[in-house]
Amino acid sequence: MQLEQTDVVVVGGGVAGVSTAFALRERGFDVVLLEQRFLAFGASGRSLGAIWTQGLRTDDDVQDLRATNDLYRRLVADHGLKTDFSRVGGVVFAEDDAEMTELRALVDAQQAIGLDVRLLSTEEARAESAFVPDTAVGGALSAEDGRLDIASFVRSLGALCMQLGVRVYEHTPVLRVLRHGDEATGVLTTRGEVHASAVVWAAGPWTQQLVPDGVELPLEVVRVGMLQTQPTGAISTRLARSASALLEGRSQRLRFEETYVQNAEGRIVIGSTFDRAESLNPHLTADAASHLIGSLQRRHPELGTLGVTGLWAGLVGITMDAAPIVDRVGGLYVSTGHVNGALTAPLAGQRIAQLIAGETTVGDLARFAADRPSLKTMAPAS
Ligand SMILES: Cc1cc2nc3c(=O)[nH]c(=O)nc-3n(C[C@H](O)[C@H](O)[C@H](O)COP(=O)(O)OP(=O)(O)OC[C@H]3O[C@@H](n4cnc5c(N)ncnc54)[C@H](O)[C@@H]3O)c2cc1C
Repeated sequence: MQLEQTDVVVVGGGVAGVSTAFALRERGFDVVLLEQRFLAFGASGRSLGAIWTQGLRTDDDVQDLRATNDLYRRLVADHGLKTDFSRVGGVVFAEDDAEMTELRALVDAQQAIGLDVRLLSTEEARAESAFVPDTAVGGALSAEDGRLDIASFVRSLGALCMQLGVRVYEHTPVLRVLRHGDEATGVLTTRGEVHASAVVWAAGPWTQQLVPDGVELPLEVVRVGMLQTQPTGAISTRLARSASALLEGRSQRLRFEETYVQNAEGRIVIGSTFDRAESLNPHLTADAASHLIGSLQRRHPELGTLGVTGLWAGLVGITMDAAPIVDRVGGLYVSTGHVNGALTAPLAGQRIAQLIAGETTVGDLARFAADRPSLKTMAPAS
């Protein structure tokens, strides 16, 4: 049975899929978006909401950051999208000499590519954010770090897509891709077939499940955990994170990138644990929960009486070099591997739409290619 006929079918109702559907509709394509559960069911509904810039290393990365910020502003100015996007700035704090050395090198490298980042003394770091602990020996201010509630962004952009004519089907899992030779010609869902000239695969960690036989997507699934408290009085508008993650080995079974954000509702959000999922089980492990609770107790015992309103995890597909895959693979357009989705997914949506519209080529997107050299030679990163 045929459910739909369209120009482009997008699979996945997270930030990657919804951003792609919007960018396609902006260009006049007829678009159907399919989501197995509901918009923001996956990682996009479980995020800390931070836009970290410490991973940016090249001029291209900086241009992408600025383009992403412009995109968020344009969505608000031109379409009245409601988001809490704001460039609040973030403090990375060091607690020993090794971390301070790492921070100095990071600041030098990031200043060289034009990012607004500078070193801070201990006093300055603590003045910038009350989340910086007494044990800090210095820090760095990344003025271009920002905040975005990804879940509400996805829901608002999804509503905008529907207003603009995108047909969104929730509770509609895709079972397989329909193919004619090497080309994807649509998908089979639990409600029937959707025929399309192009298929976009934006299914986050589920991406591996439906790629055609013989197609390799070098993704590892990690489980990312966080803790959230009830709202409290203003503590800090800035994000804060420990520099220890800059030094930690990537191969540990459980890593803790200790980060603090106070969101627009006043909730304190502590992240993030990273552990290898080895399955699509999204439940936070007891070990990860203990890191998150222990961080709050150790760093801020005065907040220990606050109610914990959430302690959860979500699954993220991550590549070896931590950059996403935005490519045409096995007859499909793929947008996946977004571990910092607020930073990478909206622009990836624009890029996929540009590819489909013939405004750019796969060659222009070589640094996001599924077969780029850095995905074959490096140890897993985040
Ligand atoms: C706890 C946690 C904290 C995080 N913190 C941050 C942060 O501070 N900053 C940041 O930038 N990023 C953060 N992230 C990562 C961020 O959430 C992801 O980068 C982003 O949400 C990925 O978006 P996506 O659309 O690629 O994937 P997802 O949001 O996972 O969306 C994929 C969608 O595809 C759907 N799908 C899958 N298979 C099918 C199918 N067969 N048929 C139909 N639909 C299907 C799924 O249901 C899902 O809704 C965090 C993630 C977690 C879990």
